Order: sequence, then C-alpha cells, then structure tokens
Amino acid sequence: MTSSTPRFRFAPSPTGFFHVGGARTALFNWALARQLGGRFVLRIEDTDDARNRPEWTDGIIDALAWLGISSDDPVFEGPYFQSSGTDQHLDAAAKLHAAGHAYYCAMTPDEIAERAASEGGTGYGGWSRDLGLGPGPGRVLRFRVPDGTTVVDDLVRGRVNFDNAVIEDFVLLRGNGSPVFNLANVVDDVTMGITHVVRAEEHLPNTPKQQMLWTALGERPPVWGHVPVLVNEQRKKLSKRRDKVALEQYRSEGFLAEAMVNYLMTLGWSPGDDREILPWAEIESLFHLEDVNLSPAFFDVRKLAAFNGEYIRMMSADAFAEECCRWVPDEWSKDQLAAIAPHIQPRLVTFSDVPALVDFIFSEVVIDEESWNKVMAADYSLALLTATVDAYAALEDWSAEVLKSTLEQVMTTFDLKLGKAQAPVRVAVTGRTVGPPLFESLEVLGVDVSLGRMRAAIERASG
Ligand code: GLU
Repeated sequence: MTSSTPRFRFAPSPTGFFHVGGARTALFNWALARQLGGRFVLRIEDTDDARNRPEWTDGIIDALAWLGISSDDPVFEGPYFQSSGTDQHLDAAAKLHAAGHAYYCAMTPDEIAERAASEGGTGYGGWSRDLGLGPGPGRVLRFRVPDGTTVVDDLVRGRVNFDNAVIEDFVLLRGNGSPVFNLANVVDDVTMGITHVVRAEEHLPNTPKQQMLWTALGERPPVWGHVPVLVNEQRKKLSKRRDKVALEQYRSEGFLAEAMVNYLMTLGWSPGDDREILPWAEIESLFHLEDVNLSPAFFDVRKLAAFNGEYIRMMSADAFAEECCRWVPDEWSKDQLAAIAPHIQPRLVTFSDVPALVDFIFSEVVIDEESWNKVMAADYSLALLTATVDAYAALEDWSAEVLKSTLEQVMTTFDLKLGKAQAPVRVAVTGRTVGPPLFESLEVLGVDVSLGRMRAAIERASG
C-alpha cells in the first residue's frame, strides 16, 4: 500500500439481518474504492457481546458477495474484527490520557444528574477535569473537549460546523475499562489507514467527536461522507419492525442482485441524465458523493420491483430459463419449464413467483372455485368448452398458433371475442383466470393432459 492509496471501509455491526441501507453504504464505498484504484476494507464491529452473533457476520459476508462485493476481488481487504483490536484501543486511550487529552472521572450517573440539575443544566460539566485522578474501578476515561469549533468537511453535506461548547467531555473507556464505540471506531480507522469514511447520516453527531480524536491522536482526519437515510412511503426512517429491510428477504423473493445494486445506487443519486437503469461499470465510473441528494431517499419497493422486471427482460432466454429452474421443485420437467419460460419472461416481477405461475403444468390442476364459478356462470361456457374439445381433438398439429386459430373459429359461432372465449378453456386447464399465455401453455402441456382437463371440466359443469 502506498500512502496515496485511498482506503475506504465498511464497518457493520453484526447485530441483525443485513439491512438494505447497509447494502447501499457498502456499495457506495465499493464503487468509490474501485473507481479511485483504492481498497475496500471490511471491518466487523463485533464489540457488543450482548447483541452479536456469528451467523450475522456470515450473513454480511454472504450478502456482500451476492451484491458483487467479493472477498476474492483484490480491492477487497478483510474481514477484520474489531474485537481483536482491544489492545490497540486501550493503548490509544492510555496515550490520550498521558498527553492530557483525556482524564479519569469517578462521578456516577446519579451524581452527574444531581450536580447538573443544581447548576441548571443537563449534561456533564467537565467537573473532574483537573482532579488528576488515575484509573480505578468505576472510573470512566473522558475526552477533554477543546474550546472552539469543529469543522467537518463532508463530501455529501459540504462544510458542517459544530460548536464544541455543546459537546460534553465524552467517555472513551467505561467504568469497567472497556472502550466505547467512538474510541474503537476511530482507533481502528487510524490503524487501518482509512482515508475515507463514508457511512449513514445517523453517525454525523459522532463525527465532531471522532474528528477531535483523530487530531488528538496526531493524525489527519479522513475525508467524511455522510449519506442520507432511507425512508419509507410515510417518509419515516426504514425500520426493522415496520418495513421490509432485510436484504436477504429480497434475495429469497427472487430479486436479482444486479437489479438490487442498480436500484440502491440510484437511490438519491443519478448519473446526470435521465437514465436509471445502467450497468455497474458505468455506475462505478460516474458515481460521486458530491452528487448524492441531501434529502432522505425513499426506498420504494414498487420501483425496485419495476427495476427487477427490467433486469429480467434483459436476460437472455437461456439465462432466464436456467434461473427459473433454480426456483422450482427438482422433479419438475426442465424441458417443459424451458418451453414455457419465454412466455413468462415478459411479465415476471420476481423469480419466487415462477412456481405459482406455472405449477398447473407440473402437477394436477387445482381449480380455484371463485374463478370457476365466475367463468362457468356465463351461459355460453359449457357449450363453448364442448365445441372446443371437439375441434381440438381433431387437430393434427398441437401448436400454439393452430390452437389459437382453432379457438378463433369456434368462437365465431358464439359471437365472442378472444378474451371471453379463452376464459372457460383457461379455467379448465390452469384452474385460474390469469396466467401465462393460454395457447403456449396448452402446447407445453400437450394434447392428452389438455384435453383430459377440458373433458373433466365439461363433466363437472354438466353434473
Ligand atoms: N458499526 C457502525 C454501524 O454499524 C458503523 C460505524 C461507521 O461506519 O463508522 O452503524
């Protein structure tokens, strides 16, 4: 590594499902690291023992790989684990203490609240600054916030000024001696030579404190970039309880990684023209934090679905059929699936819809009663079905075109349009009123099964 190599990092805490917002932050870092010929460092911030679980860490690595952020790529570095850096965090704390940037404080939260109330304030007033206390049980190490203003230069937000007077002397080591987030996070960034900290806006309040720590440790602070949060339709911050936020869920519903990546990258950023769908290579070369919109970005699941549909349409017929195979039971005939695939590709939204869309081809037809009652209530339905079976039984060529033109002939006797004429055949053969194109479905199903189902329907309707 040369000192001019830009080093980005993604520093998730493994405390739950990997969030789409985290995915977006990771992708922003990844795009920039690649664009600038830099590194993308993955650091797992696993110091919250009560909430961490190893499977969440595996989930993060797996999710990143799915997004194309692969640990095999030379740009990728890590994963590093914050928990293995505790000695460095403690060394840095000792250094800050020795240099007078930090001091021990023995006041309990109750004592602090009491004193603050008596002085008409709320926070900690630096009361132990000059007591010269050493470490001891229950004593916290606090940072001595200097007077003045902290100016944070942020690539997304521009210059943000923080008045140090409103930042209390924050804690670096807890009463039990363990390092807090701000210390561990900064020491890791310093140790790993991080040059760019790009993360969610919710960390902005930490940034002046962190910048002071960088400076106190004798280091030049990194370039900051705080990206606006994702919100739902009600403009509320996406939340685990209210919204579908787990990347894994979208993946298991059959969203394509490429569609997800494109959608997340264009949430609050655009390439400067009208395009929204564009390949990763272009996104990577055009993406700039300076162009990211400052307002919260609406994570619109419907729009994501539309992106997914677009990406499905862009797949080659072979790739599409192959992907379909991954989503259906093993015992389903791959030949039949490949035959129907081109007819569902134009309208498919997510791959998890595939089985329900075509199951009538592979298993016994299940008639939806509501559809049956609606369709068969029409006075022409039974007669039309009977006439169609007769015409179809005489066919020598069981192809979609012939099946269609044959029904078109039959329907003239009933004075019907194609839509209405298809309905009884469709409900008899597929059990539903909507589905893949009818004549192609009949072709794939074959003559015996198709006629068998139509005859069974006639029997049921006449019985
Ligand atoms: N571990 C922190 C989080 O997951 C990230 C901190 C950072 O990016 O600086 O929110």
